[in-house]
Amino acid sequence: PPVQPPAPSSTAQSEALFERAKRVTPGGVNSPVRAFRSVGGVPRFMASAEGAYLTDADGNAYIDHIGSWGPMILGHNHPAIRDAIVAAAAHGTSFGAPGWREVDLAELVCQITGVQKVRFVNSGTEATMSALRLARGFTGRKYTLKFRGNYHGHADALLVEAGSGLMTNAAELGAAAPSSAGVPDEYARLTLVAEYNDASALDALMAERGHEIAAVIFEPVVGNAGVLLPSAEFLAALDRVKGNGALLIADEVMTGFRLSASGATGRLGLTPDLSCWGKIIGGGLPVGAYGGRAEIMDYVSPEGPVYQAGTLSGNPLAMSAGLATLQALQADPGLYDRLDTYTARLAEGLQQAADSVGVTVWINHIGSMLTVFFQAGPVSNYTEAARSDTAAFAVWFQGLLKRGVYWAPSQYESIFISAAHGETELKVTLQAARAAFAEVV
Ligand code: PLP
Repeated sequence: PPVQPPAPSSTAQSEALFERAKRVTPGGVNSPVRAFRSVGGVPRFMASAEGAYLTDADGNAYIDHIGSWGPMILGHNHPAIRDAIVAAAAHGTSFGAPGWREVDLAELVCQITGVQKVRFVNSGTEATMSALRLARGFTGRKYTLKFRGNYHGHADALLVEAGSGLMTNAAELGAAAPSSAGVPDEYARLTLVAEYNDASALDALMAERGHEIAAVIFEPVVGNAGVLLPSAEFLAALDRVKGNGALLIADEVMTGFRLSASGATGRLGLTPDLSCWGKIIGGGLPVGAYGGRAEIMDYVSPEGPVYQAGTLSGNPLAMSAGLATLQALQADPGLYDRLDTYTARLAEGLQQAADSVGVTVWINHIGSMLTVFFQAGPVSNYTEAARSDTAAFAVWFQGLLKRGVYWAPSQYESIFISAAHGETELKVTLQAARAAFAEVV
């Protein structure tokens, strides 16, 4: 990769691809936030990725702070992962029958996270959707509880007051429950919503409705309203949910294997009944998973009455990428500390850069996740996050992009630092950030 990414010049190829894409795909993209709707301009169509860098179709290089929205904790095109995928592909791409790699990965996930059984699916959405069905089957209860601005994928039951792209496009979508057209009110009514980080609201809801609630699903550290950190009181209230017979479902799709080997819950000292994973567990290929104690997991078919299946689940290429990733993480126990340190230095440098030109920002970060909120803060829930100056964010984003720094194209997302981010990338990013902040005022 180049020591200093050249300032991007032409975007002609991205523009041409975007025009073609819009003719054949809604909005020209296969996932909404990629369209740059809230920041404007042409989304860059990427041609290749290596280490901490993305290169677009016009040959412009960018320091990537998105990491494919979380999976690429080791950096792009990591040789061990690439080799594992290529080696697996030499033996066939899909069996439709069990194979050794899914056994190896399941054993490793159980060993690392402490769950007794795990089921592999193909995305984070499938993981949370299946975990909810399992919780309903296991408890015989109908209602679920989620938190405002938490995003758990695009299943009907979870598209209620959701974060991520729903928050980014809130004005377009009306921001009311449900979060999407096509989700019937009747479905949404089965999902209760509480404010994140409000321990007394959670306690009160559980006292009133707890006996009807099958599961409380939550992001242990939120990435999808921007980064929000749970308070100690809130974590204690989440732990109390279990006393009520409801299952506590930690959605670790973003935080799993990222904030520590045992995810955010391991780092924060919370033990859920079920956990959901995605992103890192597939090493850049489509994998999700959910797991927990055997007594709960054995409610899943064919062992139990809760149906869940998948043509490509446990796919050998995807399993090999997940295995290589988790093995590489295990082999480098100091990585999490290095990511923490890098991200803390990035946060400090960004704060200084903003201060130096008189731009007000509030930065939340933990581990290798970080959000710069364009407001005075503090930011601990959806309502507070939504007070951010998204127009100022958009100016800053464009300032970064034109200087070769690729940031999440929405105020309400986390960035993700990888093992491939080093001193050069930190320096160039902070220089670009300072110049971009100067353009905000
Ligand atoms: N849960 C969380 C916390 C997520 O961040 C996401 C995606 O960003 C999902 C679930 C959905 O995962 P996927 O996009 O793989 O369906």
